[in-house]
Amino acid sequence: MSKEGSLGAPIRHPIDFEHPDFLNPEKLDAEMRRVFDICHGCRRCFNLCDSFPKLFDMIDESENEDVESLKSENCARGHFPSLTM
Ligand code: SF4
Repeated sequence: MSKEGSLGAPIRHPIDFEHPDFLNPEKLDAEMRRVFDICHGCRRCFNLCDSFPKLFDMIDESENEDVESLKSENCARGHFPSLTM
């Protein structure tokens, strides 16, 4: 469990990219939506990376203006060139 405000070295959590679920399309979509929903509620990074204004515009223009309304095909790499998914 990480904590804020520590002077200790950060703990690195390696990504298990060889796990069979790593490229599972359904799990990838669910994880993407989980992260997008957090960023949608925060929006602090809107001016730090070109992906954020695109994501927030997409959410704002979606049917219910939420992450659940996003179409998965619109979240593909072509719409977010700076994402490495
Ligand atoms: S918008 Fe930026 S600061 Fe906010 S949750 Fe997403 S990555 Fe973190």
